[in-house]
Amino acid sequence: MRKKIVAGNWKMNKNLEEGHQLTSEVVNMVKDEVTSDVQVVLCTPFVHLNSISKLLAGSKNVMLGAQNCSEHASGAYTGETSVSMLKSVGTQFVIIGHSERREYFGETDALFAKKVDAVLAAGMTPIYCCGEKLEVREANDHIKLVTAQVSEALFHLSADALQKVVIAYEPVWAIGTGKTASSAQAQEMHAEIRAHLAGKYGKNVAEEITIQYGGSVKPDNAVEIFAQPDVDGGLIGGASLKSRDFVDIVKAMK
Ligand code: 13P
Repeated sequence: MRKKIVAGNWKMNKNLEEGHQLTSEVVNMVKDEVTSDVQVVLCTPFVHLNSISKLLAGSKNVMLGAQNCSEHASGAYTGETSVSMLKSVGTQFVIIGHSERREYFGETDALFAKKVDAVLAAGMTPIYCCGEKLEVREANDHIKLVTAQVSEALFHLSADALQKVVIAYEPVWAIGTGKTASSAQAQEMHAEIRAHLAGKYGKNVAEEITIQYGGSVKPDNAVEIFAQPDVDGGLIGGASLKSRDFVDIVKAMK
């Protein structure tokens, strides 16, 4: 049975005090209200990881994630953060390949392949994001593009390594726009990604990979999206900044 994982990507939001408050609320609500075996991940800004890690110490199912990392191990890379630094403060997950990294920071699939390797070598879980822009979908090239993103960043991995990766499908046109993919569009792409993985690694491996959906997930649309057979959780932006909304989304993953 593949793992169900709902992760909050705080992006560049919340100062430390606000981050502590949000974390404490989420931890308490998850403890009191969540009965399923869903894993919850909070992907906070780098500067908050160390102290938020301590707030999560007593929680069995709320884990810590970062939003990026360097592909380099250490050295003269001003402003960068290495995987060993992230690991040393208790980080368990690292988002790699977010569309905002692609769009605003010029990051490429070749770079993501190196970052995925670094995260895996440090014993953490990469959450690899893929997804098409609106014009690509309108040209009906979305499946070709997303499966190519998956191959380019992940297909150098062994089957054992691949099984440690989480994939997040985030159509760019649905991120922060309030326009979510329909549950049928999400299911179609998730099934295509899984078939693509099966083509390279075999069906048994592909069946074990957690594939999250991200893009304007809210409490009122999460139930339907998460009910799709190939949707194994969510990567939540805006709605992860409010504890009530985020935990309601977590509860929608059955
Ligand atoms: P929104 O949920 O704000 O659309 O953001 C999705 C996202 O980019 C998560 O990584």
